[in-house]
Amino acid sequence: MRVTEHLSNRKRSLISFEILPPLKGKNISALYRTIDKLLEFEPPFINVTYHRAEYKFKQRENGMFEKVYIRKRPGTVGICAAIKYKYGIDTVPHLVCGGFSRMETEDALMDLNYLGIDNVLLLRGDAMHNERNFVRHEKGHGNACDLVKQTVELNKGVYLEDELSDAVETNFCIGVAGYPEKHFESPSMEVDLAYLKHKVDCGADYIVTQMFYDNKHYFSFVKRCREEGIEVPIIPGIRPITSLKNLYVLPGIFHIAFPNELVAAMQACKTPEEEKMIGIDWTIKQAQELIDFGAPCLHFYTYGSMKVIPSIVRELVSKPYSV
Ligand code: FAD
Repeated sequence: MRVTEHLSNRKRSLISFEILPPLKGKNISALYRTIDKLLEFEPPFINVTYHRAEYKFKQRENGMFEKVYIRKRPGTVGICAAIKYKYGIDTVPHLVCGGFSRMETEDALMDLNYLGIDNVLLLRGDAMHNERNFVRHEKGHGNACDLVKQTVELNKGVYLEDELSDAVETNFCIGVAGYPEKHFESPSMEVDLAYLKHKVDCGADYIVTQMFYDNKHYFSFVKRCREEGIEVPIIPGIRPITSLKNLYVLPGIFHIAFPNELVAAMQACKTPEEEKMIGIDWTIKQAQELIDFGAPCLHFYTYGSMKVIPSIVRELVSKPYSV
């Protein structure tokens, strides 16, 4: 089922999870164990991230350096199919522009269509670790909006090869990313919102936000989106923090800020256990407020916080919900 159908059919705020494929060489069983712990919450869909290949220079025996591409977490499409058919849960594979030609994107979308997966979250992806700025594949897309356009075309049966006749129309429900605290490359919130509106106008069906720790960012983001004419559902992204260290690491990676109240509470902790409890309490309060606001779904980023997520979600679902 398409994500937007799940959202329309909901009787309360839904709860979904985002997981990462295993590291290359690892077995899928650890991932299944993670999902087993989430089953009690009956997630309507599970997102699976995509990880582009990075390159590094390896020195060979002759002293020369060779550029070697390494993808640490391959398998997004396969993992999505495995979860869908093992658990009967809809999956949302992430697809990125970075490292993909338009033809490879089309092939990936066709694979998903054959597998009966009709949801995608379409992203540009970040620059490679050793690149300063994002560089598009020479035959690929430079922004997520172009990936959206390509997928919308496929939904109409228009493939890259224009000689096909009676080509199958796909039925992808398209999610895109939004940034309540602004995308870090954008010169202003206004510009970022204009590009977000463009992504939606190109055919995105809903938005999932970057994580944030102060709900005022989400509330004002939703308000500004609506003022700009962005009408699609906006799903807030939540990532529980579990330690003081998180407060120093996450801003550098995700370009977000922590509210002072949370920083002060974490700094006052005497033990790692206390830090964890502050993180759990903060997330429960934050999530409850989002539910009370009427958020269509809470998108939990599980990476690094899987140990605390079940207790947080259990607390949330034990309370009476309003839509
Ligand atoms: P875009 O929408 O292309 O925007 C990128 C920047 O370009 C913004 O500053 C925007 O304002 C600007 N812009 C947009 N359109 C245009 C245009 N037409 N012309 C000029 N400028 C434009 N990354 C991964 O690698 N794998 C994942 O699985 C993944 N999952 C994610 C899930 C979520 C929910 C979120 C919020 C992010 C995720 N990311 C993932 C990170 C994402 O790839 C990065 O944040 C990336 O820097 C931007 O991606 P985007 O799709 O928002 O890009």
